[in-house]
This record gives sequence, structure tokens and C-alpha cells, in this order.
Amino acid sequence: MSAITLAIILTLLLLIAYLSYIVVHERKIRKRLEGQWTAIKTSAKRISNVHEKDTAFAAVSREGEDAFFFDSAYESTGSIAGTLALLKKILVCHNCILFDADEKRLTVIAAASSDQDIVYELPNESAGSLPGWIAEHRVPLRIGYIRDRKGLSYYTGNEGINSFLGVPVFGEGDKLRGILCADSQEKEAFGLEAERLLVFAAHAAALSLENVSSLRRTKLEASEFAALYKLSKKLSATLKIDEILDIAITSIKEIVDYDMAAFVLKEDTETLKIAAAKGFKAAELINATFKPDESITGWVVKNGMPLTFYDFQDGSRDLPVFPKQSLPIRSLLCLPLSIKDDTIGVFLIASKRENFFSPYETKIFEVIAAHTATQISNAVMYRQMEKMATTDGLTGLFNHRYFQERLSQELERAQRYKEKLSLLLVDIDHFKKINDTYGHPAGDKILKEVAKILASSIRAVDVAARYGGEEFAVILVNTDGRGALETAERIRRIVESNKFDISGAALKVTGSMGIAVFPDDTGLDEGAQRLLISRADSALYLAKEEGRNRAYLFKEAADRIQKSGN
Ligand code: GH3
Ligand code: MG
Ligand code: MG
Repeated sequence: MSAITLAIILTLLLLIAYLSYIVVHERKIRKRLEGQWTAIKTSAKRISNVHEKDTAFAAVSREGEDAFFFDSAYESTGSIAGTLALLKKILVCHNCILFDADEKRLTVIAAASSDQDIVYELPNESAGSLPGWIAEHRVPLRIGYIRDRKGLSYYTGNEGINSFLGVPVFGEGDKLRGILCADSQEKEAFGLEAERLLVFAAHAAALSLENVSSLRRTKLEASEFAALYKLSKKLSATLKIDEILDIAITSIKEIVDYDMAAFVLKEDTETLKIAAAKGFKAAELINATFKPDESITGWVVKNGMPLTFYDFQDGSRDLPVFPKQSLPIRSLLCLPLSIKDDTIGVFLIASKRENFFSPYETKIFEVIAAHTATQISNAVMYRQMEKMATTDGLTGLFNHRYFQERLSQELERAQRYKEKLSLLLVDIDHFKKINDTYGHPAGDKILKEVAKILASSIRAVDVAARYGGEEFAVILVNTDGRGALETAERIRRIVESNKFDISGAALKVTGSMGIAVFPDDTGLDEGAQRLLISRADSALYLAKEEGRNRAYLFKEAADRIQKSGN
């Protein structure tokens, strides 16, 4: 065979190999896309309550139906995807996935990293997978080291997962709606705090799913439906309460030309606040606070029931709309903003003309009130979730994860502005003995109180965190060693002189402290963060060695060690 023939055959073989690779690869991608499409369609159909489509979707053309379903599912999963992305970032995990659950199967609704090879449908039973186990047992599941790969059958390949955390998502009437899970290639990646966060996120996910289904259940004319749908899309795009209220109040004006509209929110049981207002006296009303028992608005919040007035005539009634205000209005609708059994506020809409709002419009406003309430609740949850992700559950200080993140940011800042930064580590002395003598709850109480002392002894710009167990860390920004030692001494003295009340007895507690300074003790090179922590720890170690209840700078500690070595 000549060299040319050989070359032709080789080229042909290579070409065939390449083509079959493309075909297999393409098929894999197509299969995955088809899986996603089916999953989204299934979940959209379940969300949309197909039985009502003849009336509710009258205006939607038959060809457009799939696209419409897709759109609606996408919108609902849009805010969920945002939550999953946030969770993934906070938990520093491999993936975060939300499954929809029905009697037979689990279907992926959204994933933080959807480009991975996920199996979009799973049986909802223990034998199927870890999410299946949760669906069957309806309790959270946390595994630090996965030995049996079968549980990870929600991936097509081996993603190298070692830890898993999953929680059930419950909807109305404690019905299992889905499973929310996170996984990681690290071992022991998820602690109790992560579990708490995921349980919380599951509530938010359930609400987002309910949000869309409530709109689907309402039978409305096509044009109103379209307007409401647009509004619902806009609402779900933001998690800022001010923006939510602004979107709602502005969009309603497009539906009905009211003379006054307002959102009143409950600040606490005894205070209501006008959080948004448009129309009559809006500038005066906005941000005003008042007590619930002084107005019609308060009555609606307290009783969680709507009130409709066809000819209100403010001023001539026992109760005004708002205290000490007389508004030139005749028609008035006061709708509670309710989440399950809780009323979080009121939506008011008014006109100067009597008999202005039709029953049909009233119904539309009810839907808007329900949507706004859900989205406000989502926003509040999101904010709480962010807070939970960064704080330590026991002491309320920042947690270890946030501490590391913030230290990195502050070091960068210090370097940029050529400032010093000190790190103070605090460890309670003989804490084990306290636990052993007075019990774990007493120990917890002391941890909380020491945390309070720390938080109140530093400036607003400083960062106090629970480093772990009975150890705390404080980032003292723009502070040199001398300043840090002063702060440490102040804290040490307060702790030392504080009487910790343990079942009536005044207990004495002390703490040892170590300080390291950036860049003096660390230099400017990469690894300064790790060095700063380990050097503060060395100083703390010496404080313990030398008898506890004292604070040392690393520099001081290093000098001493050197001297004692000589
Ligand atoms: P030293 O003076 O050398 O620091 O002694 P110590 O006993 O404080 O140190 P050690 O590290 O041996 O013990 C720390 C103890 O703190 C052990 C652990 O049970 C306890 N601990 C850790 N976290 C908590 C917590 O959240 N609550 C309570 N009550 N105790 C905790
Ligand atoms: Mg310790
Ligand atoms: Mg200790």
C-alpha cells in the first residue's frame, strides 16, 4: 500500500471518529435539553392547573400554549434560580437543586448549575436516590461522607460528590411539594447552620411556587390576565420591598384610574407604617406610623378581613382611614395583605367618586394584594436568609464563614489604602470546666453574654465573629498593635469584672487573647490572611501558657519566646 493510500485511510478513520464523537455529544446535549424541556413543561402544567385553561387562558392561542407554559414556568423558576444561586454561593457547594415532588416522581425545577449532567426525573423513593429518601421520609438529610454512590443517581456521571444536604419543601396543608438539596465535593461540607438555612430557603421556594399557582387559579378576562401576568413578572424580578410596592402601585394605575392608593405594613404588633402612597396627600402620608386601633386600616390588619365602602365620606365616621387625616374620598377598598394566617399589612385603593370600583375590579385588586403580599414575604425571607447565612445562631455575631470572607475583603482594603489592620482572637478560659460544672446551657448563656460584651466594645466598622466553639475573632480595621491591645485590654477587664448570672449565682469568667497586625506581622505577600490568623493564635497560645486572663501581641509573644529560648 502506498503512503498516499495509507494517509487517505488514516484521514478517513480520523474523520469517522470525529463525526461519531460529534453525533454522540450532540445527542447527549439534545437529550439533556429535551429532559429540561419536559421537566419545565411538566412543572408548568402542574403549576398552572390545566383544568382551568379553557376559561383562564381564553386569549392565549393554541400554538402559543407551550410557549406560554414555558414562559410561566420560567418566570416562576426565575426567582427560584436566584435563590439557588445565592444558596450555592453561601454554602460554597457543588450544586443546589430544587425538585418538584408528586406521588410518583421527583422532577428538577431548577438548579444552581444547570449545565451539569442532571437526571431530570427520579422515583421518589429511598431506593432511587438521596432526594428520594427525603421524599419518602419527609425529614431533612445531612451526610458528611457518602460511601454509597447509588444515592447520587440524580447525576448521570460521577461528579465526585462527598457531602449531601437536603430538606423537604412543604406547601399548603403540609403537602410535600418538593425537595431542596445541596451537594459538595468536600467531605463534611454542611453543618447545622447550613441545614437551618436550607430549611428556611425551602419556605421561600414553596411560596414562589404558590405565587404562580394562585394566579393560575383565578379566572379572569384575558386582558386583565395579561396585565396581571405582566405585573406578577415584574414583581418577581425584585426582592426589595420599596421596589415591590412601587411596581404594584404604579401598575394598578394602568388598570384602574384611582385617586389614592397606599400600602400599609405592620412594623410590629403595635405599629403600622404607610410604606407606599400615591395620589391624595401622598407626600404627607408616606412613612407615617400609627397605632392599629386608631383607624379603618388598623381594623383590617387586626381582623385580616377586607372592607369595602361605596360611599365612605371620611371625617363623618368614627374611624378615619388613617388617624388624624381627612381624605376627600368616597369609594374605598381596604384589602388585607395575608400570608397564610398572618396579615402583614393592608392595600388601600380609593376614588373621589362614589360606587367607583366594580366587583370585577375588586377581584383583580384581591389578586394583586395576594401577589404583593407573597412577594413582600419572599423579600423579607430573602433578607433573613442572607442574615442567617452570615450570623452565628447562638450568639448573633457573624459566623466563621463570613469572618473569613470579610477578613479577606478588609485585608485587601487595608493594603489598597496602606492602612494597618489588627486581628484579635479571644478564647474563654477553662470553659470546659464551666460546662462540666454548670451544664451546657449555662455555658451557652456565657457565650452569648461574652458575645454581647465584644459587640458593644468595638466600633461600628469593626467585625466581631464567633470563630468556633468558645473562641471569638474581632477584625479591628485601621488599627495598629497599640490600639488593638487597648481594645483587647478593655474587653478583658469587662469580662473579668462581669458577673455572669447562672441560676442566681454570680459566676466569674476570664478570657485570653492574642493579637496579630497586618502588615507588620504578616508582610504583604499572598497568604497574609492565613499568617495573620496563625500569628494571633500563637499570641493567644502564649497568653494561655503564661497563666490565662491576659492579652498578647504576636510581636511581644515572639520576643518572649526568643528570649526564653536564648
Ligand atoms: P482553655 O482555658 O485552655 O481554653 O480551656 P478550655 O476548657 O476553655 O478549652 P477547651 O478547648 O479544652 O474546651 C473548650 C470547650 O468549649 C469544649 C466544648 O465542649 C465547649 N464548647 C464548644 N462550643 C460550645 C457551645 O456552643 N456551647 C457550650 N456550652 N460549650 C461549647
Ligand atoms: Mg478553645
Ligand atoms: Mg478555652
